[in-house]
Amino acid sequence: MTSTPRSAAAHAPIDTFPVAGSELIVGGQPLSRLAARIGQTPFYAYERAAIDRRIAELRAALPVAIKLHYAMKANPMPVLVAHMRDRVDGIDVASIGEMKVALDAGVAPTAISFAGPGKRETELRQAAAAGILLNVESEQELDRLAAIAVDTGWTVRVALRVNPDFELKASGMQMSGGSKPFGIDAERIPAVLARVAKTPLQFEGFHIFSGSQNLRAEAIIEAQQKSFALAVELAAHAPAPVRSLNLGGGLGIPYFPGNTPLDLAPIGANLAQIAEQARHALPEAQLCLELGRYLVGEAGIYVCRVTDRKVSRGLTYLVTDGGLHHHLSASGNFGQVLRKNYPLAIGNRMDAPADELVSVVGPLCTPLDLLGERMLLAHAEIGDLVVVFQSGAYGATASPQQFLGHPGVVEVLV
Ligand SMILES: *Cc1c(COP(=O)(O)O)cnc(C)c1O
Repeated sequence: MTSTPRSAAAHAPIDTFPVAGSELIVGGQPLSRLAARIGQTPFYAYERAAIDRRIAELRAALPVAIKLHYAMKANPMPVLVAHMRDRVDGIDVASIGEMKVALDAGVAPTAISFAGPGKRETELRQAAAAGILLNVESEQELDRLAAIAVDTGWTVRVALRVNPDFELKASGMQMSGGSKPFGIDAERIPAVLARVAKTPLQFEGFHIFSGSQNLRAEAIIEAQQKSFALAVELAAHAPAPVRSLNLGGGLGIPYFPGNTPLDLAPIGANLAQIAEQARHALPEAQLCLELGRYLVGEAGIYVCRVTDRKVSRGLTYLVTDGGLHHHLSASGNFGQVLRKNYPLAIGNRMDAPADELVSVVGPLCTPLDLLGERMLLAHAEIGDLVVVFQSGAYGATASPQQFLGHPGVVEVLV
């Protein structure tokens, strides 16, 4: 089977999957054959080899002192989390449901941390019983955890999630700076640390997550430098040495025309400097990044089948069996301000020129159910397979699958 690179014209760069003849090759198999094996469309397919390549690229670019965590809310498929277990240094969960998946996958409690606002008393107790690291998001949470530690006598491990006074510039989603529901404002941290000292809680460090989906290395570098400097400053008030410093993530992937992939080299060089400074400033600290979409986003595709072709006043529509109920973010309704097309292709006609202007829609009776708007694709007929690339993160579990009562989506790891 020979592989040929594909033109990235009018697309975000998509070279994760090779092509042989007319077929996209996913998990070593022609897409049509994979679809036949799965027995239904729509489906998501995530490729182990692509995930492993991405982790290898990161390991090569980052200093060994920087540990890699997987933020599993990006893709919580249990076998994928199990795949990650042996390849990353930790799993970050954002709910008790995710904690269960991580523990079931055999991830050691010492390698799990839990962030997220509004953790209820029962959830805090479950996490404390599990022995995972709790990223504390409020003073209320701290009081509840202290009471649990007193009540049970367990060692309850905590880090403080800090809402810094800066933001990650040019991010898809801002998660810090100004007034935010996440974490404890940096200026409150010294007082909170003084309170921690009066509890039996085991203080382990800080968690500073400033944003998501960023494609500008300089912005990420600036945020990491500021996060590190802030952690060093706050550590002076801590009741115990900082053993864990989570510098966040925010590494983005290209989705849209004009997006270019992130250059890891300067980020790695900057982190090497930070790691060197940390050897003196925070000698007991293990530094980590927590990445969701960067690890899995490009390794996944969403595949649906053309069920109808119709022309309305001059524009051709490919109607498919998939749509926003499985893939909200590709429809542009997952927090996007301006709708833009994800990269799409006809996965069983990869050798045909992309020369037909079409809109790709789903079966839902709403104009929001749009997977591709006026884009050039290979001429497609009923039965052909529409592929949405860059779909390994924030897909199935970030979509309203019950909406309109259509069949659910299948996920495979290949
Ligand atoms: C969502 C989230 C992540 C992952 O973000 P990505 O953009 O998928 O990398 C990491 N950490 C925290 C605290 C999050 O809320």
